[in-house]
Amino acid sequence: MSMKFLFVHNWQGFSLAEWYLREAISSHCHVSVSFRSLDLPSCGIPANDFLPRIISTWKPDVVGFSCHYWSFFSFIEAASWVKHLSPEARVILGGPQVNSIDMAQSILSKYQDIDFIIRGSGEEPICRLMEGFAGKQRFEKIPGLSYRTPELIQHNSSSSASPWKRSLIFSQENKELTDQLSPLSEVSYETVHGCRSRCLYCVYPTSKFEFVDDDMVQSELSYLCNLGIQHIRICDSHFGGSKERAKKILRRLRKVNHRSSIKIYPDLMHMDPEYVELIKDAGAEVTSIGIQTTNRKSLKMIRRRAMHNYQEAIELILKEFPNVPVDLIVGLPGDNLEGLKQTFRDVLDMGFSTVNVFRLAVFPGTPLAKDELTYFGGDAVVHTSHGQVLTSPAFPSGIQKEVADLIHALEIASPLVRTREYLSRSSSSLNLMDLISQFDSESLLEVWMSVASFNPANLRRRFDEVIEKIAKIIGDRPEIRNALKLDLDDQLQQNKIRGRPVNIITQI
Ligand code: SF4
Repeated sequence: MSMKFLFVHNWQGFSLAEWYLREAISSHCHVSVSFRSLDLPSCGIPANDFLPRIISTWKPDVVGFSCHYWSFFSFIEAASWVKHLSPEARVILGGPQVNSIDMAQSILSKYQDIDFIIRGSGEEPICRLMEGFAGKQRFEKIPGLSYRTPELIQHNSSSSASPWKRSLIFSQENKELTDQLSPLSEVSYETVHGCRSRCLYCVYPTSKFEFVDDDMVQSELSYLCNLGIQHIRICDSHFGGSKERAKKILRRLRKVNHRSSIKIYPDLMHMDPEYVELIKDAGAEVTSIGIQTTNRKSLKMIRRRAMHNYQEAIELILKEFPNVPVDLIVGLPGDNLEGLKQTFRDVLDMGFSTVNVFRLAVFPGTPLAKDELTYFGGDAVVHTSHGQVLTSPAFPSGIQKEVADLIHALEIASPLVRTREYLSRSSSSLNLMDLISQFDSESLLEVWMSVASFNPANLRRRFDEVIEKIAKIIGDRPEIRNALKLDLDDQLQQNKIRGRPVNIITQI
């Protein structure tokens, strides 16, 4: 008789991990397993009754939860439901939120409803674990497995005796997958596993950086494009893994992609004019560029390359795709308010007109979490329950208003960069960011609310609205007008903004 495995995730759409596990179990597991998956929305707790129902009716032998930071606590809650309704069912956690020994130790000590934790890639461990439940495998031989013994919590080494290679998943022959994919608007895919960087705060790069078989990538991407999936998100940490491989994949996409929008994270080191042309011809887009900070002290601490040094690459991308956002992180170790200001100046100078500003999150098991006090200068750091840093020694509560004002100022200034055809950065008669930085918090918030809904399709009207709001605020604050020795109202009246370039430089 088959063992029943229920895989629970929270992607509200497509889970790549689900299909990796399905393929592994069907091709490499030496016991018969019947697989079902459940996409379980959560609002702090699992947000519907599906899990108790499926536990009561299908009666899975094994329930595996795929944990990310947004689903972790609700899945811990859901695990207790599983054990209450079906005490004999085994409960497994996997996914990036639990992939360190520290995290596994803490979960298994605290939550008795969790039986096993798989750290890192789950394909091989899940097969061996199923065999273990059938008495055909010893738990201590299973790579990356953490579990309780009568004496202690055991953490097996992650290294496997045999190299693991997956088989073809995305193909016309996989009827179940094709049925699931057809109605979806977005599907994720990867052409490499892992990451060659080791950023201090990252939960993902546990496995070694390796390429998925080239022929398989070409065939699977062709299948996805032929299916006409609206959005294909290639979530490689460094798209393609190498410059030549990235170009080879884009050439293939150029041939086979006629309907899909494809999102990629290119490595700036690989960028050249041909690469940009290929992105365009393949119907691809750059998801974002991760600068995070330009503060050298901080970059050294977080072990990250100084991406802002690849200016030519950034220019090439922004010239062709002006709306590509830059990712920035507030609250990094080694950074401070001055560093943040400089980073904001730098990304505007680079020409970014869209910004994604994130608050640093400290995820359990990362090198940052392990040695947090040292990295933050030996003082207490206050987090949210999901690990986001609310305050730290360099970003105490006393400067949070300035931090918020600064982010609002950046988010006001950046869409105005998008209107480059109206702006000239060559003269300093009007320094927009100097001007914006002097608004009080409420004014910043008011203008920011307009910018937050900035719609490129309606660019000109929204731009004028924002400029008029700024002019009104200056009108109410003559001291700012005098201090800056400018008269934006006059400029508006003379229609300089509407008719020809205004001299605005984008510097804080
Ligand atoms: S480059 Fe991205 S995926 Fe790689 S370690 Fe850094 S944050 Fe993680």
